[in-house]
Parts: sequence; C-alpha cells; structure tokens
Amino acid sequence: DVRVRFAPSPTGFLHLGGLRTALYNYIFAKKYGGSFVLRLEDTDRSRLVPGAAESIEDMLEWAGVPPDESPRRGGSVGPYMQSQRLDLYSQTAQQLVDSHHAYYCFCSSQRLELLKKEALRSGQTPRYDNRCRHIRAEQVQEKLARGVPHVIRFRLEEGVEPFQDLIFGRSHHDVAQVEGDPVVIKADGFPTYHLANIVDDHHMRISHVLRGSEWLISTSKHLLMYRALGWQPPTFAHLPLLLNKDGKKLSKRQGDIFIEGYQRDGVLPEALLDITTNCGSGFNTNRIGRRIDELISEFNPSKITTHSALLDLEKLPEFNRVHLQRRIEDEEQCDLLIKDLQGQILQACAAEIHDEQVLQADYIRRVLHLRKGHISSLKELASPAYYYLWIRPSVSSQQVAAITAEAEHIASLVLKLMAERSEELKVDQINKDLKTLVKQTKSNQKREVMKLLRLALSGLQQGPSIAEMMVSLGPAEVSHRFQNLLL
Ligand code: GLU
Repeated sequence: DVRVRFAPSPTGFLHLGGLRTALYNYIFAKKYGGSFVLRLEDTDRSRLVPGAAESIEDMLEWAGVPPDESPRRGGSVGPYMQSQRLDLYSQTAQQLVDSHHAYYCFCSSQRLELLKKEALRSGQTPRYDNRCRHIRAEQVQEKLARGVPHVIRFRLEEGVEPFQDLIFGRSHHDVAQVEGDPVVIKADGFPTYHLANIVDDHHMRISHVLRGSEWLISTSKHLLMYRALGWQPPTFAHLPLLLNKDGKKLSKRQGDIFIEGYQRDGVLPEALLDITTNCGSGFNTNRIGRRIDELISEFNPSKITTHSALLDLEKLPEFNRVHLQRRIEDEEQCDLLIKDLQGQILQACAAEIHDEQVLQADYIRRVLHLRKGHISSLKELASPAYYYLWIRPSVSSQQVAAITAEAEHIASLVLKLMAERSEELKVDQINKDLKTLVKQTKSNQKREVMKLLRLALSGLQQGPSIAEMMVSLGPAEVSHRFQNLLL
C-alpha cells in the first residue's frame, strides 16, 4: 500500500514551500491509489504559533489537496498530532535505552554551553562529546531516583550504510563522524523531531517519505534509528529545493509566500499548484493551465531531477489568468464565481449601484465571458477601474464642457451608432466605428473625443479601453449613458 504523509510543524502558517511538498505527496498518493496523511509535528512547544495547525489543514482543503487522514478527519492510525502521541515516543525511547541504543544524559546546560564555546574558540563545529554514554548503570539509577534533570540521547553508530534515494540516488552521511549523539527525548519529556518522526512514519505505515531536500542529511541518522528498533524503513524521495527566481531561498521576509495571503488576494488555488510544479520537474509537460487531475496523470516521478526549482512569482498573474478562464468556461465553476463576484461588488460599491440588474447572474456571466483571458483575478472586476460595469457615472455638464464644446454632437453620434449596432458589440467593429466617428467631429481631435467617451462611460479618466467598455455594457446601457449628455 502506498501511504505518504505531509508532516509540517505548526510553528508557522502554510507557505508555498510547504504547499509544494504537500502537493507532491498528494499527487504521488493519488497516482498510485494510496493515501495521503497529514500529521502535525507539534513537539516544539516553545515555537507553536496559535491557529497555525487549523490553518494548515484549512489551506490544504482550500488548495484542493485534502488529506485522507488528518487531525480533523481522523483515521485508523491516529491521533495525527504528535503532542497526543507522547506515550508512544517514551515507550520507544525506553526500548532504545533498554537495548543500549540510547542513554540518559545528565549534562547541564552550562556544560553544553562550555563545550560549544571551546569548540568555537578552536574553530571547530560544536558537537556533544557523548560523555554520558559512559556513566555506569547504578549511577544512572541513582541520578534518576534523585530527579536530576536529564534528556535521552541516541547512540550514533559508526559506519552508516548508503541508501537509495528515489531522486538523489545513492546517498549517505556518516553522522557519527560529524555529530554528537542526538537528543531524542528532551528535558520536558517531549520527543525531538528525529524520534517522533520515525516512530510515526513506522506506526502510520508510511511507505514513501517525500520531503524537502534539506532533510536529506538527516536520513542516515533516521536509518540508524530504524535499524536499532528493528523496523523496516520507508523509501525516501527528497524533493529539490524550491528557490526564488534569483536563486535565493524563498523567505517569509519577502512577504507574500503565505497561502492565506494568496487566498485573500484572489489567487486561485489551481494557479498556485500549477506554478509550483511548473518550475520543478516530475511532469511530462510544463504547459500552463494544468489542473490537479491533469497534474496527477502527467506526473512521472522518474522525471524529478535534483536541480533546484526556480519559482518565478512574477508569472503568477499569468497562471491565474489562464486558470480563471478555465473556471469561467466551466458552467458549475462559473456559477460559483458569479456568487463570489456578486458579494465582492456589494461590498465594494453597493450604495452606488445604478440598477439592480447588474447584480443578476446573467449580466455578470456575460461580463465574465467577455473579460476571460484578459483579467488575471476576479478581484479586478470589483476594483474601481471596473466600477463602470456596476455604477452609472454621474457626469456634470461642466465636466463635459471642459473637454470639448462638441460634447452634445459627439453624444448624438454615439447614440446613432448604438441604434444601428446589434445586441452584441464587437471590439474590432467598435474601434472602426470610433475612427469614423472622430472624423465626423469638427475638431477632428481624437484625444478630446476619447476623453469624453471615457468620462461618459465610466466617470473616470483611466481604465479599460473604450471599446472594451462599450462591448461589456452593451448598446442599451451605452446609449443610456450618452443620453445624459444631451441637454
Ligand atoms: N516537521 C518537519 C518539517 O516541518 C517534517 C520533515 C519531514 O517531512 O520529515 O519540515
């Protein structure tokens, strides 16, 4: 059975790097008919961020990569929060102590601090010197009985065997050469990441571990623990780093990498999934516009390379535009967009709406179909540049007169034109008509005419093209707006 997991620590909210890891796991599970597990690694109590655990699961659901088993959904191998599995970790640690693969360490923080300082002074990387490996059993019992604060450390064996990573190939990292024995149970009784992680992967029957390549160097250590416990390890596949376009690490400091932020900004989840996989590898194509079912069918793990994936976030609007178009073209999805947009319009400009009709599904649907492929976010349509769609501007005679003395003449020409044109205007045709119209004015000044048209249509000095506005509004509404200019 294929079983994979996404195991974030709720020490922060879900960001693009995490979403990518979750996504590859999800795709892997679905491709091979397996299960996708969400496990929250919340053992670092001091770094927990309130609300992060719930939000991570919310965001996975929103993004369309919901877990099959999770804290919220439950499952047969739960609980899915490490803080609720503490007994399991202490039992396992005890098992390691009993088999001499782990030992109690009573070193004080002062001693550890001193070790560190000395190492740094002599230019070495600080590491624990494994002193407590050698305390006699009676002494250990005596200290435990006295309640001396302690941790449990795992005894790193020399001579780690290489393992076969699905992506990085033959890998190994002789940890005992470079690290001191790692803590597996902390002084507060909580396990460290390394212990909890392997205990859970084992008990949750995880078959494949797909995670970021920053964990590649820890894997040998994990394999030593599996060996000590007599457990069969999962298969490992480390995903290449996800970097910014300039090759730097994606960082929270650069701001917008949090999934909740994208959600708020009107980015579609499928655009996020598409862009994070598009820059990476592992798919048969890299075209823009792939949705999750297509990502699954085009997924090809043998195509994942070890090169870092360079994420070009400047392309996000383009991805969003393509996916928004796909949603608009899907009837059911389009209905949801209509509801969403109705809400946004009401919020943005309810008080000024000229006609209840603009809030009707048919009108909005028509607008969406006309604007698809041009707008990169639904939000744009509820922004001031597009208010002309919902609000009939009130334009004063002074404003009009300030542009040109020919305002009335121009308005009558537009009215005549609209009377001749069909229900459905076309951008090309309107542009031609406008050229002719300009020639019919006395001044023959294109700029003044355009300025006037824009003002009459939208009440603004800037925004979408004149032809686009006319096409979106349709001849009847355009006529209405020019009627007002006739005294
Ligand atoms: N809790 C670890 C993290 O936050 C999980 C690493 C792993 O997948 O093993 O990245």
